[in-house]
Amino acid sequence: MSEHTHQPESGRARELPMARSMCWHCQSEMTGEYFCGRCVKVQPLSKELDYFTCLNLPRKLNLDEQALEETFYALSRSFHPDYYATKDEGEKAISLGNTALLNTAYRTLKDPVQRAEYLIRLEAGSAKDIRNSPPADLFDEILELQEDLDEFRSLSAGESDERRQELLEKLQADRRTLEARKAQMEDRLREQFSRWDALPTEAEGEATVRSQKDAVLAGMQEILSNRTYVKNIVNDLVAATSPTAEPGRSAWH
Ligand SMILES: [Zn+2]
Repeated sequence: MSEHTHQPESGRARELPMARSMCWHCQSEMTGEYFCGRCVKVQPLSKELDYFTCLNLPRKLNLDEQALEETFYALSRSFHPDYYATKDEGEKAISLGNTALLNTAYRTLKDPVQRAEYLIRLEAGSAKDIRNSPPADLFDEILELQEDLDEFRSLSAGESDERRQELLEKLQADRRTLEARKAQMEDRLREQFSRWDALPTEAEGEATVRSQKDAVLAGMQEILSNRTYVKNIVNDLVAATSPTAEPGRSAWH
C-alpha cells in the first residue's frame, strides 16, 4: 500500500508509454503506468522513449515551462532512489535507470538550444548531426580576427605594449560585434521555434507538411551551426582578452 504514496500526483504524467506491456515482476498486463496495478512494482522507462513523451509534452519548441517543471518533479519523486533503498535489486536498478533518463530528458528540454538540437535529431535522424560552420558573410572578418588573436597571444606583456593594446581594443570590439550577431541568431532561432510550433501536427503523413517541417528544421540547423561557431570564437576572445572574467550569463549557453 505504501508504494502508492510516491506515485506522480499529476494523473496525466502516469499515462505514458512503457518499455513493455507486461509487468516485469508479476507479468500482469500494463496500461501505460509507471507502477504495476497489481503488484505495485515500479516499471522501467523505455530507452527509446523520446524526451518530449517522457515529460508528457507535445513536440513543440516554445514549451510550457511550468508543465515541464511539474512533470519533472512529480516523476523525480516517483523514481527517487531513496524510496527504493529497502527494495530488491531489480527495483533499485529500475529506479536509477528511470532517474538517469528523466534527468537527461529534463536538462535537454529545459535549454532552448539543446531542445532545438534534440528535436532536429529526433525529426531528421542521426544523419543530420549539427556541425559548427562559420556564417558565410562573416568569413573574411573571422579570418582577420583569428590572425589578430594569434598575434595577440604571441605577444607577452611588457614587450610591444603599444601593439598589444591596439590588438586588445580591436579584439574587444570584435567580441562585441560577435555577441550582437549571436543575439541576432537567437532571435532568428526564436522565430523558427514559432514557425515550427505553428505547423500542423494532424496531417503527419502528408508530403507537404513533411517538406514544410524539413524546411524549418534545415533553417534551424543552419542557425544553430553558425551560432555554435560564433559562440566558440567569443569564448576564445573572452579567454584571451580577459582571463579572469566570467563569460556573460544568459539562458542561451
Ligand atoms: Zn506487477
